Amino acid sequence: MLTKIHRGSKEIGGSCVELESQGQRILLDMGLPLDAKQNDAKYLPDIKGLDGSDPSFLGILVSHPHVDHFGLLAHISPEIPVGMGVAARRILKAAQPFMPGKWPAPENGPEFKSGIPFEMGPFTITPYLVDHSAYDAYALLIEADGKRLFYSGDFRAHGRKAKLFYRMIAKPPGNIDAMLLEGSSLGRLHHDRQFPTETDLEVQFETAFRETSGLALVHCSSQNIDRIVSIMRASKRTGRKLVIDLYTAVVLEATGNTKLPQSDWSDVVLMIPQSQRVKIKRNAWFDLLKQHSRNRIFREKIHANPERYTLLFRPLYQGDLTRGECLTGATYIYSQWEGYWERGEYDDVKMWLNKHKIAKQSIHTSGHASPVDLKLFVTALNPGKVVPIHTFSPERYAEMYPNVEMHGDGEWW
Ligand SMILES: [Zn+2]
Repeated sequence: MLTKIHRGSKEIGGSCVELESQGQRILLDMGLPLDAKQNDAKYLPDIKGLDGSDPSFLGILVSHPHVDHFGLLAHISPEIPVGMGVAARRILKAAQPFMPGKWPAPENGPEFKSGIPFEMGPFTITPYLVDHSAYDAYALLIEADGKRLFYSGDFRAHGRKAKLFYRMIAKPPGNIDAMLLEGSSLGRLHHDRQFPTETDLEVQFETAFRETSGLALVHCSSQNIDRIVSIMRASKRTGRKLVIDLYTAVVLEATGNTKLPQSDWSDVVLMIPQSQRVKIKRNAWFDLLKQHSRNRIFREKIHANPERYTLLFRPLYQGDLTRGECLTGATYIYSQWEGYWERGEYDDVKMWLNKHKIAKQSIHTSGHASPVDLKLFVTALNPGKVVPIHTFSPERYAEMYPNVEMHGDGEWW
């Protein structure tokens, strides 16, 4: 089995790895680079068969539904099988109509079931469900030609599914020849520090909500399901209902997990921002709206009792909240990667907050394992070699693990 990292050997984002065995090939992930301005075909790696014309190209396996792992699927032939988790596929499909620009929603391909191997030509693939900030995320074990390659995907040990991490290190898949290991936290977090857990965040949210006399705005990704659960739990404990928009309602439903907050829960309410109302009308999404409208409210209700609500903030709510005068005593909690904020993606939100004299607070934790947990993971799985991927600091691996082998983008090994 031969391996080539197309992108990711020294960057976070745009992950793409090609594997070859007996003249046949598969890809692991097809991500959009983090610094891409838009989802453009110019970022496609040079791989034979992306137009569906090469029978030796068997398909693509997507570890999880984060755009830096699947975004470039927007530019390949729909004939190519794309394997992923069942819920992950549903989420991409549900999210697609709400997204600006090109947004892929692959229809066909193998469906991952944790621990159950499947075959693609000469490759045997075993997916393992992992703890990550994307829902339905997997690590992949790929076997071919008597070799075993383990692709970590993105993972952590401090989320709501941390037990998956501890289960794997207690009973690791053995005899790994090479491990492609993500290292997002290397160079970002001191080698013996830990990230706060999702449960820690829950407590922080609870305190922040108690200290807020008006509406609590929490700005996080609608696809960060672990985070939504933390916010929901803290809201419940402080007597607040969770306000979501139609996009969030649709994503939550697509998880297929009724234990997760849903639009018909008595402590969840739907409030449609104006721009989404226009979209619903234009696309005649009336059935979809009806389906999620059991607890629909309008901004007048928030204006009357803002202290009874936590709003999952999306920038498109700004106008509605201003016009509805919902911001008396409000707090704004930023709950995603600070990098987006720092590079100016939310400058409009920043200006809006300034105008309303609302300070930004941050409550967040990483979707990625700390250096300590990465080390635990490598020690337990004990691979023949560790190859850096999805990291800005590949040089840090050697400080942490024996048997590190660096392979640059574009190199076959
Ligand atoms: Zn990810």
